[in-house]
Amino acid sequence: MAEQFDLIVIGAGSGARYGAQKAARDYGAKVALIERTRWGGSCPNVACKPTKAYLVVADLLHDINTIAERLGIEVGHARANLAKIKARKDSLIKPQEKWVEDLNGAGFATVEGEATLVDAHTVRVGDEELQADRILIATGSRTAVPPVDGIEDVGWIDHVDALELTELPESLLVLGGGAVGLEFGQTFARFGSKVTIVDALEQIAPRAEPAAAAELAAALEDDGIEMITNTFVKSTRRDGGQIVAALAPRDGSAERELRVAQLLRPRPERRGAESRADRSRDDQARNRRGRAHADERRWHLGRRRRDRARPVHADRAVPGADRSRRHVRDGGVSRLRRAPDRDLHRPRAGPARADRGRGA
Ligand SMILES: Cc1cc2nc3c(=O)[nH]c(=O)nc-3n(C[C@H](O)[C@H](O)[C@H](O)COP(=O)(O)OP(=O)(O)OC[C@H]3O[C@@H](n4cnc5c(N)ncnc54)[C@H](O)[C@@H]3O)c2cc1C
Repeated sequence: MAEQFDLIVIGAGSGARYGAQKAARDYGAKVALIERTRWGGSCPNVACKPTKAYLVVADLLHDINTIAERLGIEVGHARANLAKIKARKDSLIKPQEKWVEDLNGAGFATVEGEATLVDAHTVRVGDEELQADRILIATGSRTAVPPVDGIEDVGWIDHVDALELTELPESLLVLGGGAVGLEFGQTFARFGSKVTIVDALEQIAPRAEPAAAAELAAALEDDGIEMITNTFVKSTRRDGGQIVAALAPRDGSAERELRVAQLLRPRPERRGAESRADRSRDDQARNRRGRAHADERRWHLGRRRRDRARPVHADRAVPGADRSRRHVRDGGVSRLRRAPDRDLHRPRAGPARADRGRGA
């Protein structure tokens, strides 16, 4: 029989943990978290934390090379050793086993594998079914692949790949001047790559005031970054060890070619209901690229009918996607009683449970 919970949370990123902690702390809910790729989700593993670790190094390099001498500090020209920078970044990341230990210690059941919805109250993970009054879908984002001719054939990288590089690309085209693209652009420029950022919009940082975006663009240009706005990357192709991008200005002026060693597409987009065509395109992209972490670009949820609810490509997903693993610590959720009649919208009376939903 399927194990019963008050709340099942699909995903174990920041959003999932916040929801799980609130349900446990404020409502005394028995909660299960399901994660298929990395406990902790993106932010601490492949997004906020590791990129900030890189930014700190990039900043220091920049200061050494630009102001140290002026301040009377005698050092030679500083160079980035990306293999060592990456190794340090990796050492800052909490191990997966520790995530599971902490989540179990906070009172949550943890199930490893890819979740698919069977019905409004049932989730399947491998051969296992779990049931709950409520299911929270907190499955995060995936990299938005722009409609550029040939992009899937050139071996582009996303933010996860970029954080795995151990050799600095001599040149880098960053496709998109949003927050993540700018962060990577500046980091790699300061590490020593020749960076070009191309955006179809009129300004980088599209949510910023135009004046602020202009200041930012000027500062990035001071770092040696070439900023090309109002321009589409129309197509890409491989030419030996290089990627050749055709850049088409939106005002109809002449196209130009840009040759780079690496193409970075860092922009995440929210996962949600998406068309079958999108999914199929993503799957083709994944097949071509053949990367283990590409499971992040797939989305199987939202299939309500039981006969369609199993993972579409379980055999091709990450190791473990076709099975599930339970981690329930002694004294953890297995001992909690379910309260099926409790209204999860209504906070419990009395003090919040301080012993649960904390510290993970
Ligand atoms: C490079 C980069 C830098 C960033 N820097 C910052 C920053 O400095 N500050 C900031 O505030 N934000 C930053 N962000 C944004 C931040 O990382 C996200 O807002 C945050 O991680 C979103 O959390 P989430 O819980 O919604 O999703 P995620 O952390 O992505 O978690 C979703 C989880 O769901 C899992 N999942 C998906 N489908 C299934 C399934 N079917 N079954 C089981 N599990 C599934 C995934 O494996 C994933 O682990 C950055 C983002 C990027 C890409």
